[in-house]
Amino acid sequence: MAAPTTASPTTASPTTAPPTISTDDLTCVFQVRQGVFKPKRPLKAVNGVSISVNKGEVLGLVGESGCGKSTLAKMLLGLQKPTSGSIAIDGEPLVGLDRKAVARRIQPIFQDPYSSLNPRKSISSIISLPLRVHGVGGPADWERKVKEMMDLCGLPRRAYDGYPNQLSGGQRQRVAIARALVMRPEVVICDEPTSALDVSVQSQILNLLLDLQKELGLTYILISHNLAVVQHIATRVAVMYLGRIIEEADSETLFRAPRHPYTQALLNSVLTPEPGLGVPDAQLGTTFPNPIDPPPGCTFHPRCPHAMPVCRELAPRPLTVEASMVECHLHDPAHRDPAHAAAQ
Ligand code: SF4
Repeated sequence: MAAPTTASPTTASPTTAPPTISTDDLTCVFQVRQGVFKPKRPLKAVNGVSISVNKGEVLGLVGESGCGKSTLAKMLLGLQKPTSGSIAIDGEPLVGLDRKAVARRIQPIFQDPYSSLNPRKSISSIISLPLRVHGVGGPADWERKVKEMMDLCGLPRRAYDGYPNQLSGGQRQRVAIARALVMRPEVVICDEPTSALDVSVQSQILNLLLDLQKELGLTYILISHNLAVVQHIATRVAVMYLGRIIEEADSETLFRAPRHPYTQALLNSVLTPEPGLGVPDAQLGTTFPNPIDPPPGCTFHPRCPHAMPVCRELAPRPLTVEASMVECHLHDPAHRDPAHAAAQ
């Protein structure tokens, strides 16, 4: 069993109950062909991920495109079968539950409300779809629950019989949120929920998500490239690189004192609105490696400004201190080179 990267939540109440959602050593391997006549090779999209999210927490999942965030989300939603490892919700193994049973408890909110809503369906029909699919109640219940969710999500009642093309981008995302929450799931996977929206409405949607989380006692897993979004909403943050979680900590700690060189580089690359500061340089060296041919040792070593000889040969182990986890030899007393102490 892999060491779980559980951290104490900052806002969720202490509990002895099992985590609302957790994974243990979760791995997903795809067989990929890189040319018509070439043999298939394994690509580890997710490599031994163990996370644990308690009720009321918001876990932010960050990392570059191709790091495995979306594959992890698909496995949590029951849309992708893990190659190995396990997922549990309230301590109950997810593998073995049918898709409908998973969907009752875990719902997604996708990034693009323009393509995730069927333009031919009315708003009431879109929001009530999960209730109808799962056979929950009858037409009168559907209408009551849809109107309840529309009120909670700040949608005007006049939109009930309207269609997506009559709504703004922000209102469409509110419809997508209402549809995700109408079954009252325990966990919501938010995949870049504001990236397709105008800047002016992004904060409205984020604040709506936070209000709904408090009101309905939801647990969120928030996938985002946008570190400002993650900092605004997440209670804990997990950073992914080439299929592994390489750092995890409560949000305040991670943004104040990131420990992994990759997390430090991500935070250094955030644009600031201050004039004259120019475009920051993440100083990540080479480009993102091919996940089908990952570098040996620490997979981040070709891009790491603090790489030591050991990094090229030996993969770092997860080091958990109190509520934080990091995978980096710089923090491992067995390998730490004093000359690199300044990197921390
Ligand atoms: Fe850099 Fe080595 Fe740490 Fe990897 S293990 S992040 S290469 S210092």
